[in-house]
Amino acid sequence: MTAKIKLGVSACLLGCPVRYDGGHKHDHYITDTLSNYFAFTAVCPEVECGLPVPRETMRLVGDPDSPRLVTTKTGIDHTEKMQAFCTGKLLELEKEDLCGFIFKKNSPSSGLYRVKIHRQGSGAPRSGQGLFAGAFTKRFPLLPVEEEGRLNDPILRENFIEKVFCCFRWKTFAAGEANYKNLITFHARHKLQIMAHSQSHLSRMGKLVAAGKTIPVQELLSQYEYMLMEALSLKATVKKNVNVLQHIAGYFKKTLPRDDREELQDLISRYAGHTVPLVVPLTLVNHYLRKQGVEYLQDQYYLEPHPAELMLRNHV
Ligand code: SF4
Repeated sequence: MTAKIKLGVSACLLGCPVRYDGGHKHDHYITDTLSNYFAFTAVCPEVECGLPVPRETMRLVGDPDSPRLVTTKTGIDHTEKMQAFCTGKLLELEKEDLCGFIFKKNSPSSGLYRVKIHRQGSGAPRSGQGLFAGAFTKRFPLLPVEEEGRLNDPILRENFIEKVFCCFRWKTFAAGEANYKNLITFHARHKLQIMAHSQSHLSRMGKLVAAGKTIPVQELLSQYEYMLMEALSLKATVKKNVNVLQHIAGYFKKTLPRDDREELQDLISRYAGHTVPLVVPLTLVNHYLRKQGVEYLQDQYYLEPHPAELMLRNHV
């Protein structure tokens, strides 16, 4: 992979001094590790909509379905200003062809999940979304999105990065010769990856591809993309990965000596028992594949859905 994948990121996470107090929330995992594979588009909705640094803090208030963005002490309502910014910025971001976005948690503008909405008499339930984050996910519902805090969870992190890489492969495919024949190949190479997230999606996507010749190609691609991104939004759990590993082991049944098969089964059991991470049985699978070569398996993105250097499967 030569070109870096484009990701949107809340500007304060990149170390930009744009927060209300003139500070930032520099996240070194993003700037020191992810930066090797991703090119970042920084967005600070509050500064870009015209608010100064430093500025008064803001919060969401009122109706949970359409909260207002209001300054904490003086009560100035910046909702319209933010909404106007979002409309223009989303048009701009459409041209960026982003493959995902990392948002700053808890912000009334950028928070993706569980942002406080203050209501008189009923406290501040964490039920909202920052205004920009909400507008972004409404405009780009299929793009992978996550918050920096949740990226500290190894499973959420692996799932998010995996989905970003898959989104990039899909966009690259869709921008090239995206015909029926090539969709069959794309699907074949992603089967195990989809299986690790949702067996039911794999089955429905298989039926969609099988019936593909009867569906106008644009309609087919759009249905496929929707199902692919929906499938990858479901967590790949240990149990689901064990199912995929057993499926892989089935391909070695006739070709591997008994000792080798038993060694693989032992590692799968240990992974199922949470005593070794996913990388351990997969390393052995890749070793056997190098020795034996099973074309169908070798082509599967499941075996390396993202660069090994990120070590994402060392912790899940
Ligand atoms: S959380 Fe969002 S709005 Fe607040 S400083 Fe960071 S980028 Fe700007």
